[in-house]
Amino acid sequence: MLLTQQDREKALILKLARRLGRNRTALIPILQAVQEELGFVSEFAMQYTADLMGISASEVLGVATFFHFINKKPKGKFIIRLSRDMSSMMKGAKAVAHQLENDLGIRFGHTTPDGMFTLEWTSCIGMNYQAPAMMVNNEVFSNLTPPKVHRIIEDCRQEFNTRRPTVGNVGETYANTLNYTNHEVNSGLTRAVTMSPAEVIAELTLSGLRGRGGAGFPTGIKWKLAAAAKGETKYVICNADEGEPGTFKDRIILGKYANMVFEGMTVAAYAIGARAGVVYLRWEYTHLRPHLEAVLESRRKANLLGDDILGKEGFSFDIHIHMGAGAYVCGEETALIESLEGRRGEPRNRPPYPAERGFLNQPTVVNNVETLATLSCILSRGAKWFASMGTERSKGFKLFSVSGDCSRPGVYELPWGITVDQLLETVDAKGAKAVQIGGYTGHLVPARQFDRRLAYEDLGIGGSIIVYGPDRDMLEVAENYLEFFVEESCGQCTTCRVGNQKLLEGIRLLQRGKCSNRYLDDLISLSETVKLASKCGLGQASPNVMIALNAHFKDEILARPVQGAL
Ligand code: SF4
Repeated sequence: MLLTQQDREKALILKLARRLGRNRTALIPILQAVQEELGFVSEFAMQYTADLMGISASEVLGVATFFHFINKKPKGKFIIRLSRDMSSMMKGAKAVAHQLENDLGIRFGHTTPDGMFTLEWTSCIGMNYQAPAMMVNNEVFSNLTPPKVHRIIEDCRQEFNTRRPTVGNVGETYANTLNYTNHEVNSGLTRAVTMSPAEVIAELTLSGLRGRGGAGFPTGIKWKLAAAAKGETKYVICNADEGEPGTFKDRIILGKYANMVFEGMTVAAYAIGARAGVVYLRWEYTHLRPHLEAVLESRRKANLLGDDILGKEGFSFDIHIHMGAGAYVCGEETALIESLEGRRGEPRNRPPYPAERGFLNQPTVVNNVETLATLSCILSRGAKWFASMGTERSKGFKLFSVSGDCSRPGVYELPWGITVDQLLETVDAKGAKAVQIGGYTGHLVPARQFDRRLAYEDLGIGGSIIVYGPDRDMLEVAENYLEFFVEESCGQCTTCRVGNQKLLEGIRLLQRGKCSNRYLDDLISLSETVKLASKCGLGQASPNVMIALNAHFKDEILARPVQGAL
């Protein structure tokens, strides 16, 4: 008997449900596995999965349409995604885009008639220091030029992907990470298990470590809340959804120092009493997964995961990897948890905070990759050693991802408190006009303020730094940022969903010289409203660039010649 396509989809989904379960938490992994096998997730597959899970098909569709990397329609055998982050645009992404369109004979957003190639723009893929960059399926290509992409297309036509490992075609990163390099792996965990959980939390609190994801919440306080919270099963989640444009330090940490990240998660589990850990890995970092799985397996064999870890009776903990599906807003911890639970990654109202009621309503600590790796160093070398570096409110050292107009882009480990000027000298950036500190949601700092300090007392940041040289067009910068926010808004708040679109329209009017002083004032007033009335960090910070343009580059942005009729 001939099997129909629907029979095949049914059999596949049943097999997946046996392996992954029928709980809602298995929804996104099942959709991803269906796509891996069939290239996309059909309406029938969504309906059948919904039936198996006892939820409505519209709920499954709602999840599938939320994430960029769940295909609802067939795409090409090779999906080419060119990064449109600002570093890529500054380093020639437009010329690369033209070459791709010419070679493939299609525009962005389309698939070749033979079904071989799909061409798309995508948000930052964490390769800003080797921009422009793109992904071909899961493989990363960087330092692109038109001739180079021409060769890549030719290779694809010869089906190179079936013969070559998908490990990423990426050169070395400049990475100055001295304290990580000097860390004796597992020395932090080994010391932690000689202490009581309360002592571990006290040590971390004394160190002054603040979360490295951007919000800067004190890690010790977060752990103390989770340790005190009541719950049957507590969780430790590593937020490896590094989506802020311009940042790539977590990718480097996961590639070079994965053991330190898992060590930090295990210390966290010991401190709060968790038995289960999850690494929420952004889809763009799929190429790291085999390496991470291998490190996890070696830790299980060494009794650094599993039961009675390091001989400590009753201390059991293990970690699994969950792949993100492409949504910047899932970097926000409650949105990340929603997505882990198989829902649209929409931020939750707080309180309750995840430390009290997080994943599956259980006490949950969510720490980012850098926080976890850094705390391994702290447990090893002591809180006082860490707190002796940095400033009063910003203790220790920090990793910065630097890209844009400088000669030495890369990852830099530096003490908090250095000035923007000192940083620019370190990365050899001459004559910069402005620097974006802390990613698109951070601070756009003009040259006359380069004496400002990187510290929570002044410019507290997550770690993405983009340098803009003397000839950069600040309206082009702002347009790029707002396009990103419009694309990534989850749509829950009207201010964010509609307000960012209006700000983008305003930027485009400014570009065409069609924006009066009064209209600019209206845009600033709208910016304040969006900041005030939006629920999460995206909407609360997306208008920062508009406000900074008005404050620092007003003459430049109002001086555009009028294009077209008024
Ligand atoms: Fe979603 Fe934007 Fe509201 Fe955040 S601010 S919850 S991204 S709509």
